[in-house]
Amino acid sequence: MGRTITAFWDESFIAHEQPAGEFESEWTGRLAYRQPHPDRPERLKNIYSILQAELADHVTLADVEPATRVQLERTHTADHIDDLQAFCADGGGRITAETGANEHTFRAATHAAGAACLAAEHALEHSLDNVPYAMVRPSGHHAQPEQVDGFCYFNNVAVAADHILETTDTERVAIVDWDVHHGNGTQECFEDRDDVLVIGIHNDHWSWDPEAHPQTGDLDEVGTGDGEGYNVNVPLPPGTGDEGYEHVFDRIVEPLLRSYDPDLLLISAGQDAGTMDPLGRNVVTKGGFEELGRRARVLADEYAGGNLAVVQEGGYQVSHLAYATLGVLEGVLGVETGIDDPMAWMDEDYDSARRTIEDIATYHSEYWPALE
Ligand SMILES: [Zn+2]
Repeated sequence: MGRTITAFWDESFIAHEQPAGEFESEWTGRLAYRQPHPDRPERLKNIYSILQAELADHVTLADVEPATRVQLERTHTADHIDDLQAFCADGGGRITAETGANEHTFRAATHAAGAACLAAEHALEHSLDNVPYAMVRPSGHHAQPEQVDGFCYFNNVAVAADHILETTDTERVAIVDWDVHHGNGTQECFEDRDDVLVIGIHNDHWSWDPEAHPQTGDLDEVGTGDGEGYNVNVPLPPGTGDEGYEHVFDRIVEPLLRSYDPDLLLISAGQDAGTMDPLGRNVVTKGGFEELGRRARVLADEYAGGNLAVVQEGGYQVSHLAYATLGVLEGVLGVETGIDDPMAWMDEDYDSARRTIEDIATYHSEYWPALE
């Protein structure tokens, strides 16, 4: 049967819902149609469904324990945790301009963080023959130590990295975040530390909410103090596609992981760089995501002791997200379903991407000679 995946899953991931309005924004009454929020339960229902339909022989579901208070408080303030719990117990509502909660959100968020911790533990206990996938909602990478942001409440990968560094003899964790938005929360959690290397590959974009979301993601945010050089932002131009992402991996991710030599590789796997995603402007196809999944496995094998955990982040075109995530997991498994991308028709702008990637590699080579 070959490689398998253990998918960590809890029903609360689809019970958590956000308020409808004008796409992600509050309802103004100007429009005829009150649109569902883009972070819909259907995102995860479709991933669940396509894995059952196409990879059932390879994927086993596993139950999730919620992250403990101790695990959450390594990353988040007690007030942040208490406030979210009380808000959800009260029925929820809109928290920031684009993010809300219902009565199930606290359970979902604590279970998502718990799933990431279990996935990271699983990665250390098993070889690449059985790779953990935290099939979670809500996502985590925008969540800051004391701030909900961008449909995220607790920073799942950050909680997992801190859990592993605190409770095992692991010394270095690498996080590769290919979600199309900048993982500002993850950057903030680790920017002054050298025991976590954060590589954030995203579209260059503005802040969507000056109150809750700082303007971040630029090249010059390289980390501070002990962490200087260990935060590597890769802001890509709109229109970057399969070849552009492969080039990022060849030119930046591979040399960095080779140099850093982590004990564990965590992937913040948001598939909203997918072609047709309403919240991204890149054009990665299912085949491109398959290649990203394959490279994650190969890089974990070569440079991270075979310790790989995949943690779900964004992806908002609910049909394409399922195909894209199927691609990621096919790549991780080394299995081909033979299913083509049903929505790919946009050309990518490889020339712009390649020029930008070369500039980015040159910039970071100040800290990483392997990028020269
Ligand atoms: Zn995203």
